[in-house]
Amino acid sequence: MKDILEYLKDHTNDILSDIEKLVRVESPSNYKDGINQVQDVVQSWLGSMGTVKRHTNEIGDVLHAQIQGQSSERVILLAHMDTVYPIGTWEEIWSIKDDRAYGPGAYDMKAGAVQAVWALRTIQALGQKPACTVDLLLTPDEEVGSAVSRPFIEGLARGAKAVLVLEPPFMNGDLKVARKGVGDYKIRVYGKAAHQGVEPEKGRNAIVSAAHLISEIIQLQDLEKGTTLGPNVIRGGTVSNVVADNATLEVDLRIWSAPEAERVDAALRAIQPLEGTRYEISGGLNRPPMEPSDGTYQLLEKAQHIANGLGFNVGAARVGGGSDGNFTSKLAPTLDGFGAAGADAHQKDLEYIHIPSLAPRTALLAGMLLEK
Ligand SMILES: [Zn+2]
Repeated sequence: MKDILEYLKDHTNDILSDIEKLVRVESPSNYKDGINQVQDVVQSWLGSMGTVKRHTNEIGDVLHAQIQGQSSERVILLAHMDTVYPIGTWEEIWSIKDDRAYGPGAYDMKAGAVQAVWALRTIQALGQKPACTVDLLLTPDEEVGSAVSRPFIEGLARGAKAVLVLEPPFMNGDLKVARKGVGDYKIRVYGKAAHQGVEPEKGRNAIVSAAHLISEIIQLQDLEKGTTLGPNVIRGGTVSNVVADNATLEVDLRIWSAPEAERVDAALRAIQPLEGTRYEISGGLNRPPMEPSDGTYQLLEKAQHIANGLGFNVGAARVGGGSDGNFTSKLAPTLDGFGAAGADAHQKDLEYIHIPSLAPRTALLAGMLLEK
């Protein structure tokens, strides 16, 4: 492993310049041209290493590269190429200060894709082959729910030996074994309009009914279990002298386990509206929780062993935010956080990667691919 680390350390500037190339092509979710350009760049790098397929669709291509290994067993590498930043949001698209490189989506998570390419390049340069066949999947829509990518992600994960997600590690460098499931409810509340001054008794106030709903929803939280419900968007009514006949509420749900999601969903749908009003509930769990399996802990042990050989430690982290690993943990052993170290994801002008850790983190990934 030391030779791999030395090789990557010698190429840190090349890795960094590849990350810069991807970051300079801005690719917010739903901006097809930007996402396709990013995929073009990665495809050109993968060149003759394996086969590359592009699945075209309306929001930007899904790129699937396959690199033959010593066995036909498959390891999946997952990364998303969309970012949360609209074009032109950042003052400077790319800048380096001390040992940090700043750019939209650098940390979350273009660096992860570049590290995957460099892990494969290094293995090839040192005359070796991955132990398993590698499926690298670069997706266009993780930041907006992965609706387009999900079938590709799940299709590849089924029957795979492992799924390694190239999202950033925990802030101390730990790998992510568990992520909360994410739900998103949209609730329309219907009431009845009436003149607020003349005959308010004929109205049924949708906003009052929404307030009742919110207080019931908050009761469904179980903070000890990590179950949270956030009624974070509300709109309603027309003008102040008309009894409000409508309101819309959006609620974010986070849970650690599938049964908790079922409990909350059933209870939420059973909440009784105030008399004369009605609730119409849509949405639900859009990312199941990423729950660790025995296979996850085996992957973690392997990663710890490799990291120790490289001179650092990685532990296990559990985090609230979701990733595409949430879709795979039930289908194959999944371990997340193989991307670049850094911080401040989703924060304009602040998100950065930590340059000195590019080589060791990439070496860790290369080790995961090399060792059986
Ligand atoms: Zn991400």
